[in-house]
Amino acid sequence: MSSPPLLDYAGYVFDLDGTLYLGPNLIPDVDLMLAELRRMGKKIRFLSNKPLQSRRDYAKKLRGFGVQVDDDEVMNSTTVAVRYLKEHYPGAKLFVCGEGPLISELVEGGFPIVNNGEECDLLLLSFDRNFHYMKLYESMIAARRGVPIIATNPDNTCPVDNGVIPDCGANMAALEACSGRKVDIVIGKPSDIMLKVILEDIGEPADRVLLTGDRLETDMRMGRLAGMGTALVLTGVTNLEQAMSWPEKPTYILESAAEIVAVR
Ligand SMILES: [Mg+2]
Repeated sequence: MSSPPLLDYAGYVFDLDGTLYLGPNLIPDVDLMLAELRRMGKKIRFLSNKPLQSRRDYAKKLRGFGVQVDDDEVMNSTTVAVRYLKEHYPGAKLFVCGEGPLISELVEGGFPIVNNGEECDLLLLSFDRNFHYMKLYESMIAARRGVPIIATNPDNTCPVDNGVIPDCGANMAALEACSGRKVDIVIGKPSDIMLKVILEDIGEPADRVLLTGDRLETDMRMGRLAGMGTALVLTGVTNLEQAMSWPEKPTYILESAAEIVAVR
C-alpha cells in the first residue's frame, strides 16, 4: 500500500522540541503550517516526553509563538504519568525523583509524597536537575523492597541551547546499577501507554494519524509500532545520514515540519 500524501490524514500529532521549536526559537513557518492545518479542519495534538513543565506551560509557550492551541491539546509524559498512576495506583505513597511541577501535579492528583524509600508504595523516576546521592540511595532502598518502579520518560539526554543535559534515562541507569532491578514501566514515547492516551484523545484510528517528530528511537518508533504515519524532521537531533541508516524507515523524511503544507 502506498503512503497517503501528507495532507490526507485526519489527525496530526507533533513533538515539540526539535520539531516545532528549538529552545526559544520557533522553526520558520511552522506557525503558518499549523494555521493551515487548522483551516483545513484537521485535529492537532502536541506530545512531548519532557516532564519539566506542565501542559499549560507548553501551551503557553506555543501561544507565545502565535500558534493557536488549547491547553488540553498538549500532552507530556507528566500528564500521562499522573493519569496512569491515578488509574492503576490511586492514593499510593510515592517516593519521587522529579521537579516541582511534577510533584505539584501528583499532590493535586491525591498522591502522598514521602521522603524515603522505606515508606513508599511506589517509586517514580523523572527528569530531575536536583538529583543527588541521597535520592539515589532512597530510590535504591525502595527498589530493593520490591515496590513498582515507574519512570516518566526514557530519554538519556535532553537537548539544550549549547548541547545536552542528563535526562530521566540517566537516573534510571543509576538506579538499575545499584538496585539490580529494571524499571518496570516507562510512560513516555515510545511506550504504548503514551500512545493509547494520544489515540484515544484524538479519536481517530492510528492509520489516519500522522506523527511528526525529530527522534528516531522515540517519536518514529512509537508511530511505527502503532501503525501511524510517521514524518521525521531534520530540524532536531537527527540528521539525514542517521535517518537513512536507521532500519525502521519513517513514512516521510522532511527538512522541516513546515513542509507538511506548502507554505513557502
Ligand atoms: Mg523532539
